[in-house]
Amino acid sequence: MAATTEELLALHGRIRACTACPLHATRTQAVPGYGPVTARIMAVGEAPGETEDREGKPFVGAAGQLLTRLLESVGLDRRDIYITNIIKCRPPGNRDPEAAEVLACSHFLDEQVSMLRPDVILILGRHALGRLLPGEGSITRLHGRRVTKGDRVFVPLYHPAAALYNASLLDTLQEDMRRVRGYLDDAARQQAAQQTEQTATTAREEQLILFD
Ligand code: URA
Repeated sequence: MAATTEELLALHGRIRACTACPLHATRTQAVPGYGPVTARIMAVGEAPGETEDREGKPFVGAAGQLLTRLLESVGLDRRDIYITNIIKCRPPGNRDPEAAEVLACSHFLDEQVSMLRPDVILILGRHALGRLLPGEGSITRLHGRRVTKGDRVFVPLYHPAAALYNASLLDTLQEDMRRVRGYLDDAARQQAAQQTEQTATTAREEQLILFD
């Protein structure tokens, strides 16, 4: 059974109260995640930056605005997407997350994924890639590809912050976002075909019962 909004908000409350790693001492507030529990798409970034730390929401600074535009360019509304990070507190000076911090925060992301059971997880950048698909390959190799692991589907993408001041990376990210759109359309078509097949099977079974 899918989780409820109350259950997701209770998890957010636990994240806000977390003191498991030293980052709690330097944060303004933790940034659990944002979006509906019913979201079919989840996006996972690296860590809150300065704006996110101040506002308590993920991807609301410059990188977040670019993410919003990229999503919109392929007809996706970020309000339909659950957005979070591999670590929930800002590292001082926006330094890279340390392994121990990622580990301490790890169970929160696992809980978020189990609660939402999204159709696809967009992996934003190399840190999220290392956390979600360890040992699967670099962001340079995997970006824009659909990677299935167990019953989860991932699409690694370059981090929007990296594309802010790099025009060629931005082109790649735009192209990859169009691929994401294609994967979602494929999945929707497959689901519709399965539903049609299921309806036909049910109708056949009903006829058989009639003739029984
Ligand atoms: N970068 C991230 O990885 N996450 C945010 O929430 C903001 C910027």
